Amino acid sequence: MVKPGRDFYCLCSPIELRSETSVKSVYGTIEWLQKFKSAEAKGVTVEHIRCSLDPRHNRGGKRNGNLQLVLQTSHLSDFVWTWMRECVIPNPVLQLFKDTALTGFEPLPAKIEKMRTSGTKASVQIPEAWELVVTGKGGDAHPDSGIRLLYACPVCGYTRYSSFKEGIIVDEEQWDGSDFFKVNGYPNFIMITERVKDIIVENKLTNCAIIRSEDLRWGNIPRPEDHPENFVPTKVVVRGPAET
Ligand SMILES: [Zn+2]
Repeated sequence: MVKPGRDFYCLCSPIELRSETSVKSVYGTIEWLQKFKSAEAKGVTVEHIRCSLDPRHNRGGKRNGNLQLVLQTSHLSDFVWTWMRECVIPNPVLQLFKDTALTGFEPLPAKIEKMRTSGTKASVQIPEAWELVVTGKGGDAHPDSGIRLLYACPVCGYTRYSSFKEGIIVDEEQWDGSDFFKVNGYPNFIMITERVKDIIVENKLTNCAIIRSEDLRWGNIPRPEDHPENFVPTKVVVRGPAET
């Protein structure tokens, strides 16, 4: 087993608390989802990655341009989440993260185009906002997680990792020490240190959920390791020179 080390957490939208699997969170409430809702990103286009070996590896790559958001609410929260799990923070939250010298992220300008107005208010002051782009690296998760590389495509670079069994266990030997980071194979999971968790809790920041990374549960979705036929190309028979 893993030696007891420091605790790591996953920072996510309160949507993750819609508990089919009764996720244990240390902070956040599902009520924020009703109040703040997910944001709509306008006119998003992404690069297309195509694979000549297996068309099932075709996928969207990097997003073109910065985020432009339409908020479905007149309430501004401290975190805004898009349907694609992008994380956006208004200026005061960015300032807080800078003042506390948190590491492992870059702010990318994001524009809130519109907020829904309510009642008699003609307009709402639209704040300056930033996409929180995580740059810290956690490397490969600890093997006790059950997370391992199942397949890497030699042509297009597509990778598939196995599911986690005991949440995401961070391997401190691999982690670069950043406060915000991601582990290989799980780009949608924003991992954070205890320090980030404490700052969010102390400042009562709204519209997020914090889950101990080892409490993350896989839920009912199929586990990739049980279905390699879904992503490993069928062997192509390479023919030698014709025999005559
Ligand atoms: Zn491929």
